[in-house]
Amino acid sequence: MKVNREYLNLKKSYLFSEIAKRVSEFEEKHPEAKIIRLGIGDVTLPLVPEVIDSMHRAVDDMSKKETFKGYPPEHGQDFLVEKIEKFDYKDRGLDISKDEIFVSDGAKSDTGNILDIFDKDNIVAVCDPIYPVYVDTNIMAGRDGQIIYLETSQENGFSPNLPNRKVDIIYLCSPNNPTGTTMDRNTLKKFVDYANEYDSILLFDSAYEAFITDDNLPKSIYEIPGAKNCAIEFRSFSKTAGFTGVRCGYTVVPKDLKRDSISLNELWARRQATKFNGVSYVTQRAAEAVYSEKGRKQVEENINYYLNNAKTIAKGLESIGIKYYGAENSPYIWFKVPEKFDSWSFFDYLLENANIVGTPGVGFGKMGEGYFRLTGFSDADSTKEAVDRIKKLSF
Ligand code: PLP
Repeated sequence: MKVNREYLNLKKSYLFSEIAKRVSEFEEKHPEAKIIRLGIGDVTLPLVPEVIDSMHRAVDDMSKKETFKGYPPEHGQDFLVEKIEKFDYKDRGLDISKDEIFVSDGAKSDTGNILDIFDKDNIVAVCDPIYPVYVDTNIMAGRDGQIIYLETSQENGFSPNLPNRKVDIIYLCSPNNPTGTTMDRNTLKKFVDYANEYDSILLFDSAYEAFITDDNLPKSIYEIPGAKNCAIEFRSFSKTAGFTGVRCGYTVVPKDLKRDSISLNELWARRQATKFNGVSYVTQRAAEAVYSEKGRKQVEENINYYLNNAKTIAKGLESIGIKYYGAENSPYIWFKVPEKFDSWSFFDYLLENANIVGTPGVGFGKMGEGYFRLTGFSDADSTKEAVDRIKKLSF
């Protein structure tokens, strides 16, 4: 018996456990400290009333023989897929149809699982810094030596340049975690053109699209001409509607998308039908409610709440001369730590001197060293209080 030794190539994932360890050591020494957590990448507001009502009704459906549901259909329940097709695509002038949409339990699983349909020999490009799942899932799949890093920094405004060699799979994340930056149409067009020229595939993660308030910024890769021939899009209800604990998202694989003359839509349909048995009826009814008139208003209020928090932090940083990225169309605020610190020493400084927990940028890749991430996911009062504390610090 042999284990998958590729797992041994994974770097120890110590970011969040190291944060937890340092915070608990600090709490032990300073039990009186009022710690504010601005490091979280998880939502904190409860599900909106429309979603809760819909879930209650769905639970009742499951209690009666006439309305009980067993295994869900492979693409997802029609009532949900129809709403996704209409509200996220057709109403925005995008020609995506129901059989191109696959409802799932979230973007994390899908961005990892999609690798099942690609050959091991592919060369992969990821931005640095980035959501670590893209790198780790490729290492698990045996591509440790085949990952190219598209480095981003203050110099290029955290917007990736095209790879300087041929790559087969490119992950793009906009709005980006951790930098909070978004990709505009021109930049995305360059990647779409590159992918179509070199026969590559773009894996476009738009888990944070609901935070985009600027109408000029694309929310979907399919707003870019040519994308249906080269891109797969991942969406999630996690940050859009507070579903991190409920689990629902979806992936779009266009029918036009072929490589080696093989339909990727068919491969993904086969992969999902074989290894995934769908999302619970109650959860899909919950997701459906996000698209009702009231539901849309309610989730928008929550998004605005987080965006306001992000703006509060951004303004605070600006007032003390710290240049930041994100916060405009993203819950994340990303900034360079003052000269004398690196990511972790700034983490310790902030914890000890302001009792604030953030996330060291180096946890998202080598290029994140010297940067720091704060988030708008805390509550408004704590966020204001944290900003007051930061303003009093001397760097
Ligand atoms: N993609 C990005 C960029 C994320 O930051 C996250 C979660 O933090 C996810 C995907 C995971 O989304 P889900 O909860 O749908 O699995």
